[in-house]
Amino acid sequence: MVISDLHMHSSASYDCFTSMWDMCERAVALGLEAVAFTEHVELNSEEFPSNPFDYHKARETWEKVREAYRGRLVVLFGAEVTYLPHLEDEIRRYLEVHPFDIVMGSIHDAPVIDFWHTRNAGIVRDNPEKAREALKVYLAGTEKLALSGLFDVVGHLGVYERRMPGIWPGISGDDELEPLLISALEAIVRNSRLELNAAVLDKPGYLPAPRVEVLTLYREMGGLPPVFGSDAHHVGVIGGNWHLAREVIRQAGFDDFAHWTEVIRPSGPSYEAVRQGALGKKS
Ligand SMILES: [Zn+2]
Ligand SMILES: [Zn+2]
Repeated sequence: MVISDLHMHSSASYDCFTSMWDMCERAVALGLEAVAFTEHVELNSEEFPSNPFDYHKARETWEKVREAYRGRLVVLFGAEVTYLPHLEDEIRRYLEVHPFDIVMGSIHDAPVIDFWHTRNAGIVRDNPEKAREALKVYLAGTEKLALSGLFDVVGHLGVYERRMPGIWPGISGDDELEPLLISALEAIVRNSRLELNAAVLDKPGYLPAPRVEVLTLYREMGGLPPVFGSDAHHVGVIGGNWHLAREVIRQAGFDDFAHWTEVIRPSGPSYEAVRQGALGKKS
């Protein structure tokens, strides 16, 4: 079985302290075919006065790593760009001059509720109207993200459940939330594809991002096979929960994950090598 992990980070990301070398060494030991470093690109100057990602430094390291692992592991150079509607022009300009193999667009907050802190779970439980407001922001933002056409992959749809699973207001049947979800999925189907993010999937009671029912709807609407992403920030979880994640996509009616060659962009630094058959494992 070919396993590719197309969402991992290295020390080129502000919140990760493991080198690309160590991440790749572990990926080879696990027998993975391909990995994509999707490093955090943060253009929101309110949260990050300057983007903590150094493209040229990361690219230089990646080129060395790619050569060292040639024939053993395909190593792709990607980005996970935090999307906010008001940053769209800036993101577009950034991507025009900073080529990547895979660009993932992710929403990391829904301003009414900071969903990264479990202390806010009480607000979600006790104030469903506020939680619905956060979901509206999240879903409308996701539609805009996909409509922008800037992203090959939409990262961890439903990530607000990562730290607080199962306590959010239901989307299905909600007069406002359900149409927002449908519009977001329509935009993703037309312009991008989903990631199945396997972080926390092995914890009892935790949910995949997206949930099976959302992934099923996406498939029925014509969505392309999702990519697998562990969202690894350290070696211990590279390729993590892959079997559980595959079970999730099968429940949603997909046979398998997208192959990495289907996802990489023609303007990226690996595309020509792929066309010439210069990447990939030697058999
Ligand atoms: Zn993310
Ligand atoms: Zn990530």
